[in-house]
Amino acid sequence: MTNVLIIYTGGTIGMVTDPKSGVLVPFNFDQITDNVPELKRLDYNFKVYSFDPLIDSSNMSPQIYKELVSLIQKNYEKYDGFVILHGSDTMSFTASALSFMIENLAKPIILTGSQLPVNGIRTDAKENLITALEIAAARKRGKAVVPEVCIYFDYKLFRGNRSFKYNSDKFEAFRSPNCPVLAEAGVHLEFNKNDILRPGDGPVKFHKKLDSAIGVLKLYPGISPQIVKAALNADCKAIIMETFGSGNTSTEDWFLELLKEAIADGKLILNISQCKVGTVALGRYETSRQLQEMGVVSGFDMTFEAAVTKLMFLLGNFTDRKKIAQLLETNLRGEMTLA
Ligand code: ASP
Repeated sequence: MTNVLIIYTGGTIGMVTDPKSGVLVPFNFDQITDNVPELKRLDYNFKVYSFDPLIDSSNMSPQIYKELVSLIQKNYEKYDGFVILHGSDTMSFTASALSFMIENLAKPIILTGSQLPVNGIRTDAKENLITALEIAAARKRGKAVVPEVCIYFDYKLFRGNRSFKYNSDKFEAFRSPNCPVLAEAGVHLEFNKNDILRPGDGPVKFHKKLDSAIGVLKLYPGISPQIVKAALNADCKAIIMETFGSGNTSTEDWFLELLKEAIADGKLILNISQCKVGTVALGRYETSRQLQEMGVVSGFDMTFEAAVTKLMFLLGNFTDRKKIAQLLETNLRGEMTLA
């Protein structure tokens, strides 16, 4: 018999409108089961671990990522798959963090949630929950069909560290334009076998050190030296620089000088694009050649969510800056496409 552990962290899926204040507040998992009677008809076992208190995903933190990893580690041998019920707002950050923190994963970890509470008449929660469970339980010749950290939402399965929340209004809340969808649920559950990662060769490893000393510099035409200086001087070890197009920035001397100073000061500068599709290609234009020469690191086509959590993971586990820079440009968990 297949066993799945459901980890209920909170989010809209399990919220009800408080009659007094009119705001959405969480309720316990039993009320989810009451609203999804189909759960009693599944042909595999599931157990539920509920967070206490339940949290809106805007309050997720590296500390909670560590608790999630510890919980999965404790239950890894006992269960064939995991479903994490999570608010959609920061679901892609959590999925990305888990992907880096668990090495050589051989079992599915499927995050899901919903845009409407489970007790709503037009809710998307039931389908999301039931199909996420099906995916977590799916096995072929004794092996998990999807040994990856994924997000299942609105009939599509995404690689977690390639996804981002792109719509706060529609049921179709997530996208992963730089990575094909890993499964689609229609009349049949169609897995895209060619793009699903194979489990790593070695034994599973759980990493629990994270360092979130990360700054962000989002560029815009006309950004002033004062604003750039403030961002680069922040008390952090690495800065994610969100650039234009394929990784381009202003070539004004003051700007390039400030970047060079930050690098000389020991800061890592990771270049990701403000474009949601496509990749950073340092050296394609004059406006990025100098960045490459001064040692700015390419994030290729990583999402912001993957860039933040990959940095947390690398800064927490390595001290050598060269090593971190080299690993940032290495595809560790399917988070980037390298030419
Ligand atoms: N604010 C909620 C959360 O992220 C939204 C959701 O669940 O979709 O926890």
